[in-house]
Amino acid sequence: MRKNNIKFTCLVIVALSVSAVELGCEREQKSAPKKQQKKKEEKNKYSETKMLMGTVVQMDVCLDQAGMSEIKSAYEDAWKRLKDVSERMSLSGSLSDITKLNHSAREAVSVEEDTYYVLKRSIDFSRSTKGAFDVTVWPLMNLWRKSERNNVVPEKLLIRRVQFAVGFENIQLLGNHRVRLLNQWSKMDLGAIAKGYAVDEAARVFRQHGIERFFIDAGGDVYAGGRNCSGETWQIGIRDPQDGSKIIDIVKVEHQAIATSGDYEQYYEIQGQKWSHIINPVTGYPQKGVISASVIAPTALEADALATTLCVLGGVSGTEHIDALTDEPRASLIITKLPSGDIKRYESAGYKEYKHTE
Ligand code: ADP
Ligand code: MG
Repeated sequence: MRKNNIKFTCLVIVALSVSAVELGCEREQKSAPKKQQKKKEEKNKYSETKMLMGTVVQMDVCLDQAGMSEIKSAYEDAWKRLKDVSERMSLSGSLSDITKLNHSAREAVSVEEDTYYVLKRSIDFSRSTKGAFDVTVWPLMNLWRKSERNNVVPEKLLIRRVQFAVGFENIQLLGNHRVRLLNQWSKMDLGAIAKGYAVDEAARVFRQHGIERFFIDAGGDVYAGGRNCSGETWQIGIRDPQDGSKIIDIVKVEHQAIATSGDYEQYYEIQGQKWSHIINPVTGYPQKGVISASVIAPTALEADALATTLCVLGGVSGTEHIDALTDEPRASLIITKLPSGDIKRYESAGYKEYKHTE
């Protein structure tokens, strides 16, 4: 599996204080007022970056909201929260609930409240997406990973056999935060949702410290708290999936999350062919066609899970899925690539409201 987590070469989305110029794109010329605005913002911004959850996490806070000691203590708590969530939900390590569950041999396991909550939300996503999102996809991921190592595309029959262990119905949520995996071959991977949850938790910590204006970017899972440090709406550039040095759109968000999933950062390569790391649990094959799916949602957990889901659902069904979610504002942009090489964009009905146009 190829993985490239170096910021500015792989991140799908980044905060833009003023314009696309920050990304080195020649989309706009810097004008004098914008330069000043940017300077003002930079002066008022404090930023810390760490490697966590297998990616670069950057957190920005606007300085005019609290004293430096309060800000530092907020960061300390937020980093600790991110680390705890990541350890509990990772695929390895003695502190991981997921490791415990994956080795439980159908025994009920007591998990942290966090893990229980994320599993509950995962099952809800599986139900509402008819299994397109499914955290029990691990056996298929493992099969495709092994196939990459052996450089052979797995036989259909083998895929069917492995699929037998995949299915969210195998996760049984019991009382007192206990969980049981009903099929002894089932194994879970929270890679499509845990990062989003961790970002929401870090956002909650900042708010607990009285900090409302902040920006968290965990390798493409973003939460924008309030307004940016010069009082404007945060602007986020969505990278061009075909050319990481360019951006295709700028969206404006406030108290909202955005996440992007795509097949160009991580993939399996078998006999020279690239296969997405996002697998359709229903067919057992990696999704094909979607090269980028971005979702704007009230929480990063939801944006993260839905961005992965839309890769499986594809342009038409994915957009319909977002349009059908009417209780709170959400929006999506899906980019597909046809075998002919043609690129197609699918925007949900609400997307225009977020898109920045000048
Ligand atoms: P990123 O790795 O860039 O954060 P995603 O948020 O889209 O990307 O998550 C991809 C991960 O999700 C995969 O590495 C795998 O762990 C998991 N996954 C793959 N397919 C599915 C699926 N259909 N449903 C739920 N999780 C999936
Ligand atoms: Mg995701």
